[in-house]
Amino acid sequence: MIRIDRGQEPSALVTARSTRLSAAVKTYNRHGAGSRELSDTLVGYNTPTIKDALYLAQHKKCAWCELRVQYGSSPVEHYRPKAGAGRHDRGAPPQVDCGHYWWLTWTWANLLFACPRCNDQGHKANFFPLEPGSSPLPVPKRPHRGRRGNPFFDTSGERPLLIDPAIDDPLDHIVWKPLQTALARRDWKWSPSGLTPRGTATIAILKLAELADEMEHHLRIAVLPSMEEVEAHAAAGRNAEAAARWQTLIADTLAPSSPLAAATWCALEVWMPAVRRTHLGLSTPARPTGA
Ligand SMILES: [Zn+2]
Repeated sequence: MIRIDRGQEPSALVTARSTRLSAAVKTYNRHGAGSRELSDTLVGYNTPTIKDALYLAQHKKCAWCELRVQYGSSPVEHYRPKAGAGRHDRGAPPQVDCGHYWWLTWTWANLLFACPRCNDQGHKANFFPLEPGSSPLPVPKRPHRGRRGNPFFDTSGERPLLIDPAIDDPLDHIVWKPLQTALARRDWKWSPSGLTPRGTATIAILKLAELADEMEHHLRIAVLPSMEEVEAHAAAGRNAEAAARWQTLIADTLAPSSPLAAATWCALEVWMPAVRRTHLGLSTPARPTGA
């Protein structure tokens, strides 16, 4: 997972919000949160124009798993869920705030492009736990006239456990670490590891450990052969060639559009740590970012 920058809000979303939010408010006042009637109004946030903007801003990758996604089969997803927020730990008895966060359905800062795996009921779904002691965003009290001001839209006081890739640098919270390093390098297993409670919670919510097979395959196929070329040049004393090959490897695998760039950055830090890079005159790879 890398940082993302959504860019400018599409005018189509402004238009959708201007009409649909007031309709949702009326329905909410009549039928209440959690009603089918309210749920039926929470549409129109995923038009092609809005979806295109997110898809391109995220370099055609899922915001959560960083795999390239099929445009047609992938949803526009809400960081803060629009139909009730699960506050419980995975596997614990459900604790759902049914009133959250329907009014953020058309909020640009709340939209992400995500793959079906990450968005399904076994993964992100409606999970949105908060840090201990954090108060949830207030729910509009009925009757609510649709005034779009604080405090309903000011999320700055709420402390989610789930990383927001548009605000946080995920690499501050989650790294990938190798396991079974006594094996040949191409046979190493890798596992996501939380550096912070938010990182640990995000790994659990999204079940990021499920990506290990994909990550290991990517390293074997797309990263390790180039790494071995760098090392072969270095072993033969061809430092200029090693440095040039290293630059190409970084450019190819840590670009914003490269799949699994954050996990790959972690692997490069393990395989070519700072002391060895300095010894060989290799550059320090910048953290990948889509922002
Ligand atoms: Zn995904």
